Amino acid sequence: MKRLNMPTQPSEERIKNFEEVELGFEPEDAIKEARRCLQCTKPACVHGCPVKINIPKFIGHIAKGKFDKAAKVIKKTNNLPGVCGRVCPQEDQCEKICILTKKGSAISIGQLERFAADHQKIEDAPLINKINKEIAIIGSGPAGLTAAADLSIMGYQVTIYEGLQNAGGVLRYGIPEFRLPNKVINEEIEYIKKLGVKIKTNQVVGRIVSIEELQKQYNAIFLSPGAGLPHLMHIPGESLPNVYTANEFLTRINLMSAYKFPEYNTPIKKASKTIVIGGGNVAMDTARSAKRLGSDVTVIYRRSFEEMPARLEEVKHAQEEGIHFLLLTNLVRVLGETKVEAVECIQMMLGEEDGSGRRTPIIIENSEFNIDCDQVIIAIGSSPNPLATKNTPIDHNPQGYLFTNEELMTSREGVFAGGDIIGGTSGHGATVIQAMGDGKKAAKAIDTFLKQKKLSEFEDKKEEE
Ligand code: FAD
Ligand code: SF4
Repeated sequence: MKRLNMPTQPSEERIKNFEEVELGFEPEDAIKEARRCLQCTKPACVHGCPVKINIPKFIGHIAKGKFDKAAKVIKKTNNLPGVCGRVCPQEDQCEKICILTKKGSAISIGQLERFAADHQKIEDAPLINKINKEIAIIGSGPAGLTAAADLSIMGYQVTIYEGLQNAGGVLRYGIPEFRLPNKVINEEIEYIKKLGVKIKTNQVVGRIVSIEELQKQYNAIFLSPGAGLPHLMHIPGESLPNVYTANEFLTRINLMSAYKFPEYNTPIKKASKTIVIGGGNVAMDTARSAKRLGSDVTVIYRRSFEEMPARLEEVKHAQEEGIHFLLLTNLVRVLGETKVEAVECIQMMLGEEDGSGRRTPIIIENSEFNIDCDQVIIAIGSSPNPLATKNTPIDHNPQGYLFTNEELMTSREGVFAGGDIIGGTSGHGATVIQAMGDGKKAAKAIDTFLKQKKLSEFEDKKEEE
């Protein structure tokens, strides 16, 4: 039997709303898809999962119609199953090495994970015996939330400091509602709070309180502030009104519900022609959001489709929604007197492979041309915001990514780090599941560190006596 996929909202409908594009399996289809799983005794799929979910076991429960049991299996290692089922790049992880990939088509592991999460009964949190040790976590994205949940289950008293008004990190302010509804994030965060985790919002570490001060109050710190400082192009005209970074544009829409203006009081420009620069997931989310606000949208990318870092599925959805792609093209300047009126572009060609394994884009001289537009959104990447570590020296590379040892401890004793803030030094990609994998690893390392510290303090005391 062939792989089953979830139904989606038709493209002509979905471009008029911010509701979820993918509609989820009906129970009978989930059972049918789950029954395709071979229940391998040595399941390759599990090795592809950075948090090692027992994939055959949860799929086995779905095949028997025991949806709640399936969710419980996933939650043993993953506290954000509804999130991961929706946004993880399974095609590059568990599904890529599912045994059935070679025989036809991989099991829809991600879609089944999402199904189990959506059909679970919200359970009461387990009773946890708390110990007298406190941990502070900076940032409430997937890395921080995962470390918090694991540490809380171990008995630690955990407080998350979040700079924004709502918890969730990029899940909340970056990934749009039509891919990841806030309702799903809220439910999963509520469960983490039930585990005893305290979340303090509007607490910008580095401004309100320093890491040094936090170290005096807490036994250990986990730094997970992400890498949300947007890159700019540094081209003429970039500071004209109606030029946004993707970060600002998406935050207005997702965190501040600007797409519901005037019901919510954050306005957003309803442009008639938008240019989005970039070729990653962020560019796709930006383009598809601008489209839903009623704009005609063109994505400009300096390489070809082959080198595009965005998930294939996102590019496909964007194309179905009528977004135009102008490839092998770059931006030279933004034109306009008092606001954006057009962009000047230049054509590119591909040269030799660079360090990233992709072919380098090279300018084709005298190939400039203009495109009229009234909004430009820059989605060319981001790097760490140095605010959290301001005034607290911690070793980092020139872009601000923190160095850690194998156990994710930074150069400052008792301060651990993970997620996107170490993305540029650890070599791992910037994905939700990698951030969660770091959160789990850091939780274990903090536990070991505190137990060893207690032992050495005890031994020192004995020696003194
Ligand atoms: P973040 O999610 O960035 O969370 C960090 C949190 O720390 C934020 O809430 C921030 O406000 C807070 N913070 C920062 N500084 C401070 C401070 N000084 N004090 C207090 N709090 C602070 N990955 C996928 O796997 N699949 C996708 O489909 C996908 N789509 C994406 C779409 C967009 C638009 C973006 C931007 C990213 C996407 N990613 C995707 C990447 C993924 O979201 C990130 O890799 C992941 O969220 C990183 O998690 P994190 O916990 O390290 O940091
Ligand atoms: Fe099932 Fe594929 Fe995992 Fe085997 S590798 S257990 S078929 S999901």
